[in-house]
Amino acid sequence: MADTGPNVLIAEERIAPRVDELAARISADYEGVDELVVIGVLKGAFIFLADLARRLTVPHRIDFIAVSSYADGDQRSGEVRMVLDLRESIENRHVLVVEDIVDTGRTLRYLVQQFEARGPASVRTCALTRKKARNEGEIRIDYLGFDIPDMWVVGYGLDYAERHRTLPYIAALDPATLDAD
Ligand code: 5GP
Repeated sequence: MADTGPNVLIAEERIAPRVDELAARISADYEGVDELVVIGVLKGAFIFLADLARRLTVPHRIDFIAVSSYADGDQRSGEVRMVLDLRESIENRHVLVVEDIVDTGRTLRYLVQQFEARGPASVRTCALTRKKARNEGEIRIDYLGFDIPDMWVVGYGLDYAERHRTLPYIAALDPATLDAD
């Protein structure tokens, strides 16, 4: 598979400076806070989270959760459930949820509800990408990387059927070129 080409939606050279900016804003906003709990949504956010967290200048710890939307290919039925919960309590803690992509917004809305019910000091959201056209109602993204068109995207942590996660850029899925390894 070629490393560059017409499928590249967000090149590696654009991702790194944007992640720097987000980390700088987050670090400024949480300055003085004892410890931020940065929660990555597995699996898709693992690369974004790794890059973002390494650029934070405020004290933080990392935790992960995994959710599953009942999926049929890339069609989502909309029901979200937690398949892996946090290791530690977030009571009285400042929480930042880090998502790879916000599509309809159901996953992030579900997670914010779940976390807010646990008595945190605050809950904010960070997403690398958002399909603006698809958002259902209000979902607040406090720190957003990129708005993208309504296409299935892969790379930088995002997969299609578990493939293409480790591409260094974000690409729109084109089965003609992306199906070959
Ligand atoms: P939402 O609940 O916002 O509709 O969907 C969020 C989840 O759907 C994301 O965390 C991700 O797992 C998946 N998703 C939605 N759109 C895409 C996409 O274009 N590519 C990939 N790889 N996953 C997506």
